[in-house]
Amino acid sequence: MRRTHAVALLGLSLAGCAADAATVTPASAPPPPLASAPVAPAPPPLASASPPSAAAPQLPYFAQYRQLLEQMVSVDTSHGGETKLLEPIAALYRDAGVPVQILESAPGRGNLVARLKGSGAKKPLLLLAHVDVVPVEGQPWTVPPFTATEKDGFLWGRGINDDKSMAAAIVALTLELARTHAPLTRDVIVALTAGEETGGFAGARWLCENHRDLLDADIALNEGGGAQLTDDLAKPIAFGVGVSEKIFQTFSLEVKGKGGHSSRPPTSGDPVVALARALVKIGEYRFPAKVLPEQKAYFEAELPFAEKEYVAAMKHVIASAPRIAPADEAVLVKDAGYNAGIRTTCVTTMLEGSPQANVLPTSAKAKVNCRILPGETRAQVKAALEKLIADPNVVLTQGEDFGDAAASPFEGEVVDAVRKAVQERFPGTPVVPGLSSGTTDSRYLRNIGIKAYGVSPGMGSRAEATAGHGAHGPDERKPIKWMEPGADYFRAVVRTLVL
Ligand SMILES: [Zn+2]
Repeated sequence: MRRTHAVALLGLSLAGCAADAATVTPASAPPPPLASAPVAPAPPPLASASPPSAAAPQLPYFAQYRQLLEQMVSVDTSHGGETKLLEPIAALYRDAGVPVQILESAPGRGNLVARLKGSGAKKPLLLLAHVDVVPVEGQPWTVPPFTATEKDGFLWGRGINDDKSMAAAIVALTLELARTHAPLTRDVIVALTAGEETGGFAGARWLCENHRDLLDADIALNEGGGAQLTDDLAKPIAFGVGVSEKIFQTFSLEVKGKGGHSSRPPTSGDPVVALARALVKIGEYRFPAKVLPEQKAYFEAELPFAEKEYVAAMKHVIASAPRIAPADEAVLVKDAGYNAGIRTTCVTTMLEGSPQANVLPTSAKAKVNCRILPGETRAQVKAALEKLIADPNVVLTQGEDFGDAAASPFEGEVVDAVRKAVQERFPGTPVVPGLSSGTTDSRYLRNIGIKAYGVSPGMGSRAEATAGHGAHGPDERKPIKWMEPGADYFRAVVRTLVL
């Protein structure tokens, strides 16, 4: 990942919507109801998988989790094609007697929805994971990205953290519940979604808008939680429960020029110079810092393990939150993750000028991606950028609204279930609320009244995330020795909620 997560402990599996969304055409035919046969004909199994059949030995939970993760990584979903990954999963649910369907928002852009029936004593629980991944083009991978490779004590591959491990764990544990005929106190809805990395338009948002009835849950678990390990991977520092997210907003800047031959550059009104001035101002600007309760809780958990240079500032901030003294701020912002956790950020990510070196541009363009702290608004950020730029030749346009939502409360049965699972396995390890600097599908769920929480099987270290091994970067990987404890922890949380 491009260090998108302020809360390093949540940096293991959270996705940041990195690109503007592609337009998605809804499928023309309405889907059949859940109880009917699935949309797709029985698919062939993945090459690396054993064909599912009634006679096949049923793998124990962790073995199945690991096998499913490797299968999922082997299907390249970095440019759509989620249906191909989901068809063998649907077959597994059918074999286990679980009603399942694949709903396509566009050809190949499948979303799997399955439902395990409970007694109805409690309102349904939704388990959601996205199965698309970010592209690998231009990244210096040292292993094949679409093969799960075991090397140096890590499992490597695109999606190993974000978010195929969550998807694999959800499938493995719900299949176990179905096969053992576990007496569920509530319906368990599984949603494996498309296109999260490009805004959720092909997946979670499309499901919420077009198939709201299938997502009639009270609470949901999604990516964005997990455990932060010490940098030597010896033990967990804290477990995070994602409750809120920064707001994603891209702005476009454009300055028009006259064009012409590059041997006769303009002596005034060069659009590139005007754009560059604006971008320097934005790049050097620091939005006001503020320490929200989630970030304060994160600093408290991080403090005993923080690098020496940050310890004093962190102590001060814990005492002064939400305020932060300029001297402490100056120390903490040396770390990009801490910085993203305490303020709105805007950064230039794309530039465009002339199509050829000897041609003057008729237009110089840039895209600036902002991540807005909860409590602040898009309009405030736009106004701040306009004030900074202060040049009528630079046209600032607000990009597509990717949505936002109020935080889920850091209390109630999910938080209780996490505390119980952590206490039983890692006594004394804190459970902290998480503010994500990236965005996930959770905002769409929160907006339709589902209390969504970031709780996942991911366990990794700050050092791994900083090195880019967490999510979105090249050589995405996870430590093998923590895979089983992570999967076990996640299963325990779910079982507490549904049994
Ligand atoms: Zn993700």
